[in-house]
Amino acid sequence: MDGKLTTFQRALLRWYDRHRRDLPWRVAPGSPRSATPDPYHVLLSETMLQQTQVATVVPYFLRFIERYPTLADLAAAELQDVLRLWQGLGYYSRARNLHACARQVMADHTGQVPEHVEKLLSLPGVGRYTAGAIASIAFNARTPILDGNVTRVLCRIDRIESDPRDRPTQLRLWQRAEEILPTRRAGDFNSALMELGATVCVPRNPQCLVCPVRTHCQAFAAGLQDRIPLPKKTKPTPLHRRYVLCLRHGRQFLIEQRPAKGRWAGLWQFKTLESPVRPFSASQLAQRLGFAISKPQQLGRIRHALTHRRYEFDAYTANLAAPPAAGQVWVTLAELDAYPLSKPQLSIAALLASGPV
Ligand code: SF4
Repeated sequence: MDGKLTTFQRALLRWYDRHRRDLPWRVAPGSPRSATPDPYHVLLSETMLQQTQVATVVPYFLRFIERYPTLADLAAAELQDVLRLWQGLGYYSRARNLHACARQVMADHTGQVPEHVEKLLSLPGVGRYTAGAIASIAFNARTPILDGNVTRVLCRIDRIESDPRDRPTQLRLWQRAEEILPTRRAGDFNSALMELGATVCVPRNPQCLVCPVRTHCQAFAAGLQDRIPLPKKTKPTPLHRRYVLCLRHGRQFLIEQRPAKGRWAGLWQFKTLESPVRPFSASQLAQRLGFAISKPQQLGRIRHALTHRRYEFDAYTANLAAPPAAGQVWVTLAELDAYPLSKPQLSIAALLASGPV
């Protein structure tokens, strides 16, 4: 493809220039077309945007940039502080990978986010999508990206009726995402595709009448835009039960750090039992956890749904009958603020703060 834009590329870029949202990780409106955003900002925003809506990400992004203005600042931070700042955004492995990634860029790339996809792919947590996004958006490299939004747009434009999650369709979509990329403004073009999917070519009721590429869209021509892409087959998500004992001593509660691997790795929690066998009372729970207690009470049930699984946390409170042992961490609810907690554990802390315990 030479430097000339096709009518499809021109229409999409012109629409993007007029309608793109002003987001804090993008170059400011009115900047020259050749301007590219800070690669660190692209890395940070793209990591946060995985599985998360733009509106949720914006305040987190701004907080991160304020606390860690440069990649070097993020690399120098303690992981616990990074997790604490990430608290509430979920999918914490992203935060751990981001931190590890910043350290690796400092160690192996003299603090500069690499520009080439192969080097980007060697960084922790950077997959094909994120590598393509950084290379194209921050460095204008002609590298394709394929996320949920781009997938939907391409499936509709090309009237792809097979399941986009199937491997052959995935390969076809990656190939298509590359074919349609212009040689210049590749980053803007990728952003425009994502923006179109996020704001116009939305999953339900796409706004075809205001779509800049309507005349190129085969799904629209066939009246199939509501049936493409093929919806995901829904299967019931498994339920995992957890039992939580908020053990109290005076105004303090016992907390512990989770293991360094697995879900919510490295975060803090009240004493939590993962058990398929249900304890029927706080006393039984305390016995299973090895504590002598008094004044047991039921606190409440917290439900937490992720993409592939659901959780139910049954929470209890009780007083510790004996003095605390050495090596345990006891904090007041106000001091809990300094520790990164998962969303369900935060909800349990909120129950403690609001209830008569
Ligand atoms: S015409 Fe409709 S279905 Fe086709 S790309 Fe535009 S918004 Fe999506």
